[in-house]
Amino acid sequence: MEGTKKTQTIAVHGGVRRDDTFGAINQPIYMTSNYRIPTDGTPVDWSGTQSNIYARNRNVNQMVLQDKLCALTGAEDCAIFASGVAALTGIFIPFLNSGDHAVISEVCYSATNLLFRKYLPEKYKVEVTFVDSTDTDSVRAAIRPNTRLIHIETPGNPTTGISDIKSIAEIAHNAGALLSVDATFAGPICMVPLQLGADLEIHSMTKYINGHGDSLGGCVLGRKELIDQVKEIAMVNYGGILSPFNAWLIARGLVTVPMRMAQHSCTALNVARFLEESPAVRFVWYPGLESHPQHQLAKALMHNEYSGMISFDLRGDEQVHQQFLNELKLISHAVSLGDVESLIVYYNKDSDKLPHYPQIFQEGFFRFSVGLEDAEDLIDDLQHAFESCNLV
Ligand SMILES: *Cc1c(COP(=O)(O)O)cnc(C)c1O
Repeated sequence: MEGTKKTQTIAVHGGVRRDDTFGAINQPIYMTSNYRIPTDGTPVDWSGTQSNIYARNRNVNQMVLQDKLCALTGAEDCAIFASGVAALTGIFIPFLNSGDHAVISEVCYSATNLLFRKYLPEKYKVEVTFVDSTDTDSVRAAIRPNTRLIHIETPGNPTTGISDIKSIAEIAHNAGALLSVDATFAGPICMVPLQLGADLEIHSMTKYINGHGDSLGGCVLGRKELIDQVKEIAMVNYGGILSPFNAWLIARGLVTVPMRMAQHSCTALNVARFLEESPAVRFVWYPGLESHPQHQLAKALMHNEYSGMISFDLRGDEQVHQQFLNELKLISHAVSLGDVESLIVYYNKDSDKLPHYPQIFQEGFFRFSVGLEDAEDLIDDLQHAFESCNLV
């Protein structure tokens, strides 16, 4: 079906199995931990992921969600996990051995950062080089004979910096390493790293893929030979499996993801243009703005939709920033992103989450996830808060 149908049709029908028992149109939730196994002496592969034995090896709602994700992205295979962080460790554990070297984006999710700064080097003797991956030359310069993995995030959380996936894939493959890309900020439609040369694509499904702020989840997409290892090692034996109910919730969210990404992108561009024009704003980065430092690269990698993530800052001291958050009525101060409602988080200049570069971020800034409210209403909310803080 996927070969001939368009994206929104695939999002509706992809992965869904016909229910021949009761004729249900909606995909049922299979809340079962066990499945009947053969009693005829057929050998059972207890760690296997190719048949239904036990819900940690494979379960029906997981299969539906995996197949829908593969259909939408063109990935050969997919493994899903209980959170985005479980999906990330789901690649770091199978593909890094002690003594291997990994090159990591300096701007990346806080758990990824901590894993590579502390746990993987200290507990597992993995060598690590952090680089500014928006500068392809510094990625190239970091390669060593034992480099096995380059892991980047693009757009980067929280800056929205864009890394050149195609060139970095070439660097990885010349070095005999894998390239994994955490594309959570882009969502699954605006950009497909696998089609740009990445070996593994990761999303926190908690964000755009589910989109409704009611479930955690993570996925890894890639070639079957790689995903087989991810499933056997990280899913079955480390055990970060997603529950059937949460897989069902996320598959339901995924149905509308093409429409949502188009709307998030359009609304965010309007809001970013408003911020760019406002005298209250010290800087704004949004990959769809001509003024974004990697806008040309974003144009080349993204499908003319730039997702809903903006980073920006106000003029004014710490107290003004707190007052601004307090004045917002529609936009909530909360940590997640990619939900239907707009969420904003403030990193003050002393935050240990502050990226080390670029300089413009050093004074503190906001990470703003533009939701599906009307752009006019979001702009009114921002403008009203600017006025209350005497910023305009
Ligand atoms: C949120 C996030 C994660 C972690 O996902 P969880 O579902 O919260 O575990 C990883 N990477 C990026 C870029 C994220 O934004």
